[in-house]
Amino acid sequence: MVEVRACLDFFQSIGASFLVLKPGEAGSEIRALQQEIKNCRLCRLHSTRLNPVPGEGTSRPPIMFVGEGPGETEDRFGRPFIGNAGQLLDRLIERMGFSRKSVFIGNIVKCRPPNNREPALDEVAACLPFLLRQIDILKPRVIVCLGRTAFMHLTASDLSISKARGRVFDFRGIKVVPTYHPAYILHKKSAEEVKKTKWEVWNDMQVVLELLKSGSG
Ligand code: URA
Repeated sequence: MVEVRACLDFFQSIGASFLVLKPGEAGSEIRALQQEIKNCRLCRLHSTRLNPVPGEGTSRPPIMFVGEGPGETEDRFGRPFIGNAGQLLDRLIERMGFSRKSVFIGNIVKCRPPNNREPALDEVAACLPFLLRQIDILKPRVIVCLGRTAFMHLTASDLSISKARGRVFDFRGIKVVPTYHPAYILHKKSAEEVKKTKWEVWNDMQVVLELLKSGSG
């Protein structure tokens, strides 16, 4: 407090009568929002969660990955995509030339639905405003929707993920690239199917990289 006062006195002593604070203080804004999410009790999921999972990453991400909702491991540790599907996502992010810390990873709902069921509409309705505020603050250049739940709730589209992937959508001026959820790859039965789906996801990520490179994302 004393340092802030001294600082203000200094600016006043050199003739400044007002200070313009740097716009886009995304770091502190996002930290405040993450705290709000941690305290949220807006829907029934708060009563069964172990930990809320607000999301994590940098406050100026080129890419924001959005999943459906925390699973068991995420619920236990309060961090997104750290289970098996998360390991696959980590590898994908790294192959794209990024790291978890240089992107942002979030979810449609921030608390684990019991038994990993799909979040109910009223739970999504309660939680979605948090994601919208995260997007507003973080201003990612491209949003990658991981799976149909993320894609459907963010874009209000009823296209299946297999029809939507390979195309670029718009959300409030931000490019949206839908792709398969990493858990979908894990559930594939044959090595052949795993290879094919991984290849499709990798192609979708080429679209993301191209958008970033061309400056249109
Ligand atoms: N699946 C999701 O959709 N989100 C997570 O955070 C983990 C698994």
